[in-house]
Parts: sequence; structure tokens; C-alpha cells
Amino acid sequence: MSKHHHRLPLLAAVTLLLSLRLSATDHPPTTTPITRFQNYLRINTAHPNPDYNTAVTYLSSFARTIPTLQIQTLYFTTPDKPLLLITWPGSNPSLPSVLLNSHLDSVPAESLKWFHDPFEAHLSPDDGKIYARGAQDDKCVGMQYLEAIKELEINFHYSPTRTVHISYVPEEEVGGFDGMAKFVKSVEFKKLNVGFVLDEGQASTTDEFRTFYADRSPWHVVIKATGVPGHGSRMYDNSAMENMMKSIEVITKFRENQFDLVKAGLAATSEVISANPVFLKAGIPSPTGFVMNMQPSEVEAGFDIRQPPTADPDLMRKRIAEEWAPAWRNMTYEITEKGPLRDFMGRPLMTATDGSNPWWSIFKQAVEAAGGKLAKPEILTSTTDARFMRQIGIPTLGFSPMKNTPILLHDHNEFLKDSVYLEGIKNSVLLKQRSVHLKSFDEDSNLLGAKFSGLLWTCYLVYQNFSCNMQISYCKNITRIAGDGF
Ligand SMILES: [Zn+2]
Repeated sequence: MSKHHHRLPLLAAVTLLLSLRLSATDHPPTTTPITRFQNYLRINTAHPNPDYNTAVTYLSSFARTIPTLQIQTLYFTTPDKPLLLITWPGSNPSLPSVLLNSHLDSVPAESLKWFHDPFEAHLSPDDGKIYARGAQDDKCVGMQYLEAIKELEINFHYSPTRTVHISYVPEEEVGGFDGMAKFVKSVEFKKLNVGFVLDEGQASTTDEFRTFYADRSPWHVVIKATGVPGHGSRMYDNSAMENMMKSIEVITKFRENQFDLVKAGLAATSEVISANPVFLKAGIPSPTGFVMNMQPSEVEAGFDIRQPPTADPDLMRKRIAEEWAPAWRNMTYEITEKGPLRDFMGRPLMTATDGSNPWWSIFKQAVEAAGGKLAKPEILTSTTDARFMRQIGIPTLGFSPMKNTPILLHDHNEFLKDSVYLEGIKNSVLLKQRSVHLKSFDEDSNLLGAKFSGLLWTCYLVYQNFSCNMQISYCKNITRIAGDGF
């Protein structure tokens, strides 16, 4: 196809975008990638009452404009928590598929603290910033996946070898237990034969894209001290308060030691264990506050603990039992593990980002082919649904293509620039082209850490010029192993 032909779609998109900005009130809304993104953002899927069904209806109707896509809505709990699964069938369904995941929900927004209504998806005419809850986390990627498929399918008549699935899951922001956690355990998921997952990442403030190969796993730890109550004037050993304060000192010291590693530049925040106090419950309430002349018999404290996959969960359990809440100090504890640290084989919950993982190589090449640079892969300080896929051994990377963008997830005035969003579609297009043609390699490599024996793929990039003006080198026969006939 000619260069001229390929540049048309972007030109058209830019023209539409410009005309929209110039005369938003003169014409009925024009459908462009940007307006479609805005429409998705306008559906309020924030907690505590996310409107999942409207979002699913909207995404399905857009998906129906791409004829080859198969659409299904799955329910694992109640009818108000749908999971949308869109499939782009590949010509060789026996190959492990690629799953592109995003969540439908978002955290609440305090409207009054925003420059613009968080569900209006206001596009600022001066700088192209689209203000909306979910603009970065993570409605951008969800729409970019579909836009990329539309571009490949409609404009390039391109069909994948490998099947691609796109999932839109509910409840990620409240732990994923009624969303991805149930999905990965379902028969429906098993049937997808997923080999690789792309999930959400985070914005990058620099020119390099960020990729996440692991999440820190949260534990909620509540420690409790009990003792005999006593008059406020008495001095005696082992009061509940005294025992709790000893524990708090120990935990504070641990916290400081971890933090010092970060301050000294020896570790990233996400590579250490954070132990932050989140509540203290003590004292005997009185109508005016607390009873002041009485030492209480019970004290409770809560801690949010985040551990990287390199941490040893058994060691942490031992530390809590022996140092943080020892029985000999009349203390008890409760650990609520909100996420695993090991996969089903007992391995640390990490996706390899080196030559042992063929998907990583494809991913890296695709980003670079689109003119992007990747920063050193990171552990995410927080937690996403990616942990559920990693736990069953599926390589999963967190990636949201937003560079030169402040990190505003869960913040007031979350925004994404239109140009950054459009560039993300370009990235997604390339990534799909590359990964869906990763034709054949040791299929066991979808198990984390498996040896990449017999990598055999060819990059069928026949499009040297994309609509987005990118130059893709025509690569062929990157690796070839004799005897494989493809
Ligand atoms: Zn998110």
C-alpha cells in the first residue's frame, strides 16, 4: 500500500480533532478516537455505585463497528457486575492467545476539588488535556485496545494469527475479588488459553514509558494488646497500652530501616517492604472525649503492609508473631493477606523481563518500533489485577502508554492529553501486530521462568508506513530454527 494511503486516517483524525476544537458548538459531535474516549469517560463507573452496565453497552456498541469481533458479557456474581469479553479471532486458534485487560471501575472523585466536572471529560482547548476520573486509570488503555484493532482491521484489512482477547473487568478498585479473581478461576477463562497478558500500568513523567513486571502485595495487619485495666495513677507492668507502645516502637524501627534503603538510593520504594500505621484504637470513650483517669484493657493498631515479590512471606509472618505482636506480651494479631506473593508453583510473583521471556522481547521491540523508549522495568508500589494472572503462571506486564504525563491516578484533576492518548493507540497497534504474529515457540513458556527453548518467530510487519507517520523497519526471519515450517 502506498504511503499516501496510509497517512490518510491520521490526517483525517487530526482534522476532525481540530475542527472539533474550533467549532464544538456548531456541529453535532463528530466521532473520533478522542470523542469516543470522552464518551467512555462520561459513564460514571466510580465507586461506590459504578454503572457497569452502561459502560459495557457502550463498549459493546463500539466493538460491533468492527465486524470480526466477538462479544460476550459474563457474570460471575450479580447482574450489576458484568465482565465484558471481546475476542478478535486469530487464524490459528491453537496458539496461546493474548489478553488485553483493563478495569471498568474507578475510584470516587470529589467534584468540588476539580477544575472541571470529573465525569464531563472536558477537553481543554488550549492544551488538549482531557479531565476525567479514569482518564489515566484506566479507561485510556481499554479504549486504545479497541481503537488499535479498529485501525488494523478497517484501515489495513489485517487479521491476526494469534487470537486476541480484550477483557473489561469490574471491581478492580475494590480488590478485584468479584472481578478478575473470579474470572481467572472460571471455565471461560481456561478456554481462552491465554499465553500473555497486558494490564494497566502508570503514567511516566519522563520521555520513557514505564513497564511493571510485579505488584507489591498488600497485607492488612491488626495487632491487639490486652492487659488488666487500672487507675490512671497506677504504675504497673504489662498494661495493654504499654505493650502496644513497645510494638509500635519495633514496627517504627523496621519501617525506618526500609525507608533508609530508599533514601540512600539503594532500592526503589516498590522494592522494599512498607509498613504504615493506619489506625490506633484505644481509650475508654466518655461524653466529652475519653476517660482520662483510667488505663484501658485493650488497644488495637492497624498497619498497611506492602511486600515486593522478592520478600519472604514466611519471614514476615514470623516477624509479626515474634516481634510485632508476641504472645508473651499479651498480644494477638490478625493478618489479612489481600494478595499472594507466590504463584501456584511457589515461585515469586514476577514476570521475567529478559531473554527468558519471549513476550518481553516482542513487547520491547514493538514499543521501540513505535519510536518509544522503555524505562527500566519496575515493581508497582500498589496492586492491580495482574497479580491474579501471574499467580496462575501467565506472564503479565503492566503498561499504560502515557509519557511526559504527571501521575494523577486517584488524584484530583486526573487528566490525559489528547496527543498522548492518540500516541498510545499507535503503540497498541504495533504491539498487537507483533505479538499476534509471534507464531510458535515452546508453548510451555507461558509458565513463568520456563526456558525459552526454540524461539521461532517471524515478524510479519508488512506495513512500512503507518497512519501515524511511524517508520517500521521491515523485519523478517528474526530467528529461524531449522525444521519448523511456517
Ligand atoms: Zn487501575
